[in-house]
Amino acid sequence: MTKLLITAGHLLFGTDDEYVEDGAVLISDRTVVAAGRRATVEKRAGQDHRVLSFPDATLLPGLIDCHVHLAFDGSPDPVAALRASDDATLFEGMARRAERLLDFGVTTVRDLGDRGGLAVRLRDEIAAGRRPGPRVVAAGTPLTSPQGHCWFLGGEVQGPDRIRDAVRAAAQQGADLIKVMATGGGLTSGGPAVWETQFTPEELAAAVDEARRAGLPVAAHAHGTAGIADVIAAGVNTIEHCTWMGKDGSMDLREDLLAQLVAKDISVCPASHPNWRSFAERVGPERARELFAPARRMAERRVRLIAGTDAGVPRSGVDGLVAGLEFFEYIGLSRTEAIACATVEAARALGLAHDTGRLRPGYRADLIVVGGNPLDDLNALRDIRLVLANGLVHSPGQADAKAGCAGRAIT
Ligand SMILES: [Zn+2]
Repeated sequence: MTKLLITAGHLLFGTDDEYVEDGAVLISDRTVVAAGRRATVEKRAGQDHRVLSFPDATLLPGLIDCHVHLAFDGSPDPVAALRASDDATLFEGMARRAERLLDFGVTTVRDLGDRGGLAVRLRDEIAAGRRPGPRVVAAGTPLTSPQGHCWFLGGEVQGPDRIRDAVRAAAQQGADLIKVMATGGGLTSGGPAVWETQFTPEELAAAVDEARRAGLPVAAHAHGTAGIADVIAAGVNTIEHCTWMGKDGSMDLREDLLAQLVAKDISVCPASHPNWRSFAERVGPERARELFAPARRMAERRVRLIAGTDAGVPRSGVDGLVAGLEFFEYIGLSRTEAIACATVEAARALGLAHDTGRLRPGYRADLIVVGGNPLDDLNALRDIRLVLANGLVHSPGQADAKAGCAGRAIT
């Protein structure tokens, strides 16, 4: 097996240091053999290897999007599109969007809700090498209350016993984690408001307990503060959105709960919309400051933040992850910290810290090369020069060529 040596002007999250000038990664058999200073790594390469050099670029781990919905197409009405599609059509769309994520340097995604176990099927197809795509960590169908948020995905359930049944069934179908909709959500018309809870504390406790028995982590969708309090008490692993909404959409951030998030080591994926900047412009600086204040406070209090896009919801395409990292910079994280939210920290939150999110010996060869240096400007992460997912080279635009559509992001 020929080894591959990739060199670059800068390297992030290598073996020993978070950042080195003049770095390199050595790959063999889809695995990182060495990563760090070029002089050191080159010594390990021996005679028989191929070299790719990117002197004016940065090598870093492949990006992780912790919150996507491959089943949604990111159109203005993804719910209608989903409901109009049979499983075969839906599956093809999901596979196409998964492949497109590679164009943007995403080598791992956590899918937080699809229909009929299609994300699990796609995960297996990609893992078996039958289709190109990032590694998929799949929640399957999210648990929701009758007519609750995303009920149309098929996960309506009520009462602790039925919830336990649903968790067991998901585990049996191969889900990697359990997703529970603890509050209402914007996507579902007619359901509970985003600040309203959908499950009782007993129901949430049953979901988490049954998931633990099956060895699965739990991700909870929670906008409202009441729901956030309930899922912290239940002991979920990650909270999605976590917008601290009080009744009628007012802001209701609770410092005691923030302290618990930190103490219980719960990661928060804000999954802020990629268009957060234009949204801020639309509502005005004062309202924007108010709406983003809770996220800023979570950053200040060192709550573990991870990057996600909610890709698939209206006007959120597969190209939104860098905008999410820019949001982290906007709320006070350093650029190194922001990138860690989509690499090191994300891998840790997804239980993959031993395998991806860093460039270390023995890790899966998930890496990207981007033009310039993202530590000077995160926008560099949009200039993708090379993507390796599980050691396979992906050329940006491949998915478009096959689908016969223009080389633009799905929006
Ligand atoms: Zn979502």
